[in-house]
Amino acid sequence: MHDDSTPEAAWGLETLAIRAGHHRTGEQEHSEPIFPTSSFVYGSAAEAARKFGGDEPGNVYSRFTNPTVHTFERRLAAMEGGERCVATSSGMSAILATVLALLQAGDEIVASRSLFGSTVSLFDKYFGKLGITTRYVELSDLAAWEAAVTPNTRLLFAETPSNPLSEVVDIAALADIAHRHDALLAIDNCFLTPALQRPLALGADLVIHSATKYLDGQGRAVGGAVVGRNRELEEIFGVVRTCGPCLSPFNAWIFTKGLETLSLRMRAHCENAQALAEWLDRHPAVTRVYYSGLAHHPRHALAARQQKGFGAVLGFEVKGGREAAWSVIDATRLLSITGNLGDVKTTITHPATTTHGRLSADQKAAAGITEALIRVAVGLESLEDIRDDLARGLDALA
Ligand SMILES: *Cc1c(COP(=O)(O)O)cnc(C)c1O
Repeated sequence: MHDDSTPEAAWGLETLAIRAGHHRTGEQEHSEPIFPTSSFVYGSAAEAARKFGGDEPGNVYSRFTNPTVHTFERRLAAMEGGERCVATSSGMSAILATVLALLQAGDEIVASRSLFGSTVSLFDKYFGKLGITTRYVELSDLAAWEAAVTPNTRLLFAETPSNPLSEVVDIAALADIAHRHDALLAIDNCFLTPALQRPLALGADLVIHSATKYLDGQGRAVGGAVVGRNRELEEIFGVVRTCGPCLSPFNAWIFTKGLETLSLRMRAHCENAQALAEWLDRHPAVTRVYYSGLAHHPRHALAARQQKGFGAVLGFEVKGGREAAWSVIDATRLLSITGNLGDVKTTITHPATTTHGRLSADQKAAAGITEALIRVAVGLESLEDIRDDLARGLDALA
């Protein structure tokens, strides 16, 4: 008799991505099923009482648990090397649930300056209102992190590599700072995914995902997840269960399908990005390329040590200012002009007037967001076509 109970602990990442967390129903289906149901029924009043009371494990209501969502959670937990994963309706609600679960009024967060825009709004506007304050520091400056920690600090929060300048922080060193001060370290792992970086293995306590990005990878669904230890995840689960930012079964099914090809896609994203970065680096109209896969990037050595790849988001500056940058963007015919990333379709954006447009001139200068900067999230189209699309505008500037 075929035994499919192979211990997941021994599996490689690609195997986990394809097989972890899959339990077949009695139908013997080969692929993961989808359970689009809001609630579940029982064979007796006594069984209902046990399941509602938590005395017996089992599904009650899809705001609490759902088998399709559970498959995605088990698979992502296995890939990140965490004890447990809780899936959420978006990346933002993953961060919201984490902070609501683990912090309270009077607690403080120390975060890197270069964060996703909505994360900054969430921290400043909404957590600020709850009496949770956030201090921002330079991502790669470990002394600044250490100096910003106070006895009230409960959470250190970073995105690495950063968007769009590909700055990197030493996760193990940051975890050490957090733990010496009895705080937790959360890493937003959107840009690399477990295919290229596993923050928990480096000492982080929590990994945050916007599954909307590379986990799906094809721009079809919005969702998120938190991965970590049972202790913290049980609290985070409580928030999701009670407050309701749960993931829909349909989106969970899409993300589970996305995970199956994650490693392959990330490898191809990285290959395209590396080749494009090297080509841009040689182009006469380009004054600077920000991509940690280039040997001249200030964090190249750290990125090479900490990551299995350099990701696919890169920035570059062109000769001239905003007008020149906009002309390169407007000359494209293939690339999508949008702020999104983590998609098979390559996207191009002008950070200073879009994703980072809310920053003051001083904040932009501190974050290195110049008017000449363009960000490309490199997709999976033919490299020649991506290059030709950028060459049209760049050649006109040279
Ligand atoms: C997109 C994104 C988020 C937010 O995720 P949503 O799914 O859009 O809510 C958080 N962090 C990073 C780094 C992101 O790119």
